[in-house]
Amino acid sequence: MKIIFFSAQPYDKDFFNSHNTDFGFDLVYHKSQLNEQTVGLVDHAEAVCVFVNDKVTALVCRQLADKGVKIIALRCAGFNNVDLEAAKALSIKVCRVPAYSPEAVAEHALALIMTLNRKTHKAYNRVREQNFSLNGLLGFNLHGKTIGVIGTGNIGKAFCRMMLGLGCQVKAFDVIANTELEAIGVTYHPLSDVLNTDIVSLHCPLNEQTRYLINTTTIGMMKPGAMLINTSRGGLIDTKAAIQGLKSGQIGYLGIDVYEQEEHLFFRDLSGTVIQDDEIQRLMSFPNVLITAHQAFFTDEALSQIATTTLNNVDQLLKNGNLTSRAALLV
Ligand code: NAD
Repeated sequence: MKIIFFSAQPYDKDFFNSHNTDFGFDLVYHKSQLNEQTVGLVDHAEAVCVFVNDKVTALVCRQLADKGVKIIALRCAGFNNVDLEAAKALSIKVCRVPAYSPEAVAEHALALIMTLNRKTHKAYNRVREQNFSLNGLLGFNLHGKTIGVIGTGNIGKAFCRMMLGLGCQVKAFDVIANTELEAIGVTYHPLSDVLNTDIVSLHCPLNEQTRYLINTTTIGMMKPGAMLINTSRGGLIDTKAAIQGLKSGQIGYLGIDVYEQEEHLFFRDLSGTVIQDDEIQRLMSFPNVLITAHQAFFTDEALSQIATTTLNNVDQLLKNGNLTSRAALLV
């Protein structure tokens, strides 16, 4: 049984090949993204395995179905890049990895906060240049600060626990309150109150309700000079509005692991090319902006879990046409 991988990186091959010894699938890797131009690469496979920036549109689903593909296996949690209705109509099963080491992403959100606040990235470069001055490196204590968390699912929950452990007060917004978190001190509030905190961290999925959740109006509800962290999906933030917020000082710090237009940039070395995206260039020009290229998931533990869960999902779907984990089966 063949699984064709798209957007495959060397580390995907390492982890999937190593965990495939338990399954014995025929794994074929393509570096290119899956989209309407590359779907022709699919040949005699029952499953394709895709990642965050593959574009599985209705047309791609139709062509996959014509080629006999029965399963689209996402090797990630988010699924905003797959047309689920189209897949369902064509009887293609779509599965994902709903919870792989949520701590990996939560810890990266914390790393962005710590770096932006204590400026260790700047200190590292300074000290290497024998500049031991502290001017410009002033930070603030996290202890006692109020953190606004938007989305308290697997990752948001792990993040709330970490922030409580650091002595912060945690205010959350979600469509469903989590009683486990309430029991340990997290309080739920309307969005405007959660935005009016010292640090706002986004952990909700990207969908029609959350696209541009952070826009000119909601940036106006933030505490002036607050920190905004996004490790979820780029489309949650209206980048143009964020740039205006940074220019006016309304946003005091911005840490992002995801970016609206990341599919044209992330996961490749563009160091020798002229970047045409003026918005990311503008963002990179701010001293109080920190960008990482969608690496929050990138830990040894998370990659092992992603590989085993994805292969297990495909195996179960082939054998039983269903999955024991309801959260893993999207359609
Ligand atoms: P999850 O499904 O466990 O939790 C999402 C939470 O968001 C749920 O509690 C849900 O009720 C809430 N939510 C849904 N709509 C909302 C809304 N309109 N307003 C507020 N809350 C809302 O998902 P998760 O595993 O915690 O992952 C969260 C997101 O993180 C994923 O959707 C994915 O986009 C992103 N992610 C990023 C990386 C990375 O490497 N940067 C890795 C994994 C996941």
